[in-house]
Amino acid sequence: MTECTRCGGKPFYTRRYSGETLCASCFKDSITDKARRTVSKYQMIGTGEKVAVAVSGGKDSLSLLRVISDVYGPRQNSIVAISIDEGVAGYRDEALDHARSLSKELGLEHIVLSYKELFGFTLDEALDWQDERDISSCSFCGVFRRRAIDEAAVRAKATVVATAHNLDDYVQTFLMNLMHGDVARLAWLDPSYSDDTFPVRRVKPFMEIYEEEVALFAYQSGLPFQSVNCPYMHEGLRSEVRDYLNTMEANHPGIKNVLLSSSLDVISHYARTSDKKSVPCSSCGKPSSNGLCNVCRMKATIEEHVKYGP
Ligand SMILES: [Zn+2]
Ligand SMILES: [Zn+2]
Repeated sequence: MTECTRCGGKPFYTRRYSGETLCASCFKDSITDKARRTVSKYQMIGTGEKVAVAVSGGKDSLSLLRVISDVYGPRQNSIVAISIDEGVAGYRDEALDHARSLSKELGLEHIVLSYKELFGFTLDEALDWQDERDISSCSFCGVFRRRAIDEAAVRAKATVVATAHNLDDYVQTFLMNLMHGDVARLAWLDPSYSDDTFPVRRVKPFMEIYEEEVALFAYQSGLPFQSVNCPYMHEGLRSEVRDYLNTMEANHPGIKNVLLSSSLDVISHYARTSDKKSVPCSSCGKPSSNGLCNVCRMKATIEEHVKYGP
């Protein structure tokens, strides 16, 4: 193996799509630099803004918290970590501990908001009627988590909320939206997406970084890996899309990068021309496409079925 392209040091990782070989330290710097470039390219974080970082406690979000804290805090921006407790017994506790201890180590405020507190039920309670449900637990949980992150960011008085979606997540979601016929949701993937009715911008500083590289960064930074998977994880189509993209990337290094830039072209065109008109939800006042938002619609379904715990 050749030496580090940047400093001549001991090789650690070769980027097949660029041919660059890096030592461990240059690799870590390259991830931080990439995230910084993405943030500046899409004007994700303004000087002096309060940034909320959504931290699930998995390796991606812990890495994001570390990078955002190293690059933007504390002199330039004030940073707060936010976590959502879905209420899944035996699963979320470990991740929340990781989020809590990293926030503490970095000297950051850490806000935890639970489904129970916000919606009146835990995910365990909501999914208790599994036999009858016609939506997958992940899309179900995703709708609530998105609302909960928004709410936590508002409570934290942040003006921007950063999530740890990486390049793989991004292109998988793009393809899945196409496969579900869910073209309207493409607007959510716009890197500078803003919604007139919602005061907090959502940004993805890792959206140009491969999942594999984020995992290596986490490992190199000594960040903990969560040992328990969500018991409701039911990825279906997503894992097929992930496998397909990984095979394509192995055969054609760099193809994920190309797919990202094609996706961004399509999305920016779509975002410019689409009619983003939304109407306030009749129940909660948040934006919706047809008068009742997804959260309230799903909440109503759950309330019909849920058997509340003690
Ligand atoms: Zn080096
Ligand atoms: Zn609503």
